[in-house]
Amino acid sequence: VFASVPEAPQDPILGLNELFREDPSPHKVNLGVGAYRTDENRPYVLGVVKRIEQEMAADTATVHEYLPIEGWPEFRRLSAHLVFGADAPALREERVVTLQSLSGTGSLRVVAEFLAHFYRPGTVCCIPQPTWGNHKNIFPRAGLPVREYRYYDDANRGLDYDGMVEDLEAAPTGSIVVLHACAHNPTGADPDMQQWQGVLEVVRRRRHFPLFDCAYQGFASGSFERDAAAIRLFAAATPPLEMAVTQSFAKNMGLYGERVGALHVVCAEAAVTRAVMSQLKQVARAMYSSPPGHGAAIVTRVLRDPALFAEWETEVQVMSGRIMRMRRELHQALQENGTPGNWGHVLTQIGMFSFTGLSASQCLYLRERYYIYMTSNGRISMAGLTSDKVRYLADAMKDAVLH
Ligand code: PMP
Repeated sequence: VFASVPEAPQDPILGLNELFREDPSPHKVNLGVGAYRTDENRPYVLGVVKRIEQEMAADTATVHEYLPIEGWPEFRRLSAHLVFGADAPALREERVVTLQSLSGTGSLRVVAEFLAHFYRPGTVCCIPQPTWGNHKNIFPRAGLPVREYRYYDDANRGLDYDGMVEDLEAAPTGSIVVLHACAHNPTGADPDMQQWQGVLEVVRRRRHFPLFDCAYQGFASGSFERDAAAIRLFAAATPPLEMAVTQSFAKNMGLYGERVGALHVVCAEAAVTRAVMSQLKQVARAMYSSPPGHGAAIVTRVLRDPALFAEWETEVQVMSGRIMRMRRELHQALQENGTPGNWGHVLTQIGMFSFTGLSASQCLYLRERYYIYMTSNGRISMAGLTSDKVRYLADAMKDAVLH
């Protein structure tokens, strides 16, 4: 029966990891992964996470029962506090519905299914050009066609704010607009607060539905508040704006494989939240029944305890600090070796990635000649770069540019 099943193309990012694993070269460098590595190039389990896991292992009361479909109440409440701020008007007014889900991706898929059923029929989902590749899988699979809005200006290596606002203005009234809350993947270019205000105005005027994808809170600036500023601006708008946020704890708590995250739907009035929650539960029930418990238990303990929270914040700052140091070192190395071009964007881009501006053929050259793996859009993970590889990368980049 499956003889006619065509083979699907490999995922560009996960496929790259497979190629990397198979590469026998001792020089190989993986700058494709979106996961933090220490300066010794090792995966990092946060100290606070490790301690909590040890306590959980020693606790004879730990059980592995099913969670409710919508997840643990305390996890849901505290994750909403983290993203909106504990005293947010939308929370006080009980207008936010929070569903614990499977990291950022699962939360996106749930909200996509929900919107496909209950938002305006025929709605398009506007995504930035470029964006995280999986957006183009998630929304159409849920029945929401995607359309791109201008986001990045290649020539200036920065946000194309005018293009973005123009395209959002021209999108059909009431479109779903996907926005990266901070540390835009892959470009590392975010609107500033004044520009976010402009985006908010066009979203309101055109009655669009903002959907914030929040995968890097804390990772961009080291501050949870600052990285949530755009979300909080939208959520505090008056009169209230209906919107949604998908929140991931993969990067900021290093819980990638544990799949911890939440979907928050902000409603215009408290009266509708009960029905909205009931429908989100229907979606989750049919898709995976209930979310995983282990990672969410860890996150809940961190969010609940001010001392553990402070420790977490310090560790997030260590991670984001190392990434920023890699930016400085790479920028300096590119200047020192005289790589042609202006590399200021390596310094100014925000978050885990640097959108280098290298072409697809230059990326391929780096892989074949230097065993340096990155996505073909020229995105390198600064979190995968280590001090001992900076010079090697800079020299390889110089060769690729001159080649
Ligand atoms: N959105 C963006 C923009 C991302 O970069 C990622 C992670 N690469 C995600 C969502 C989802 O990640 P996860 O499902 O692991 O939380």
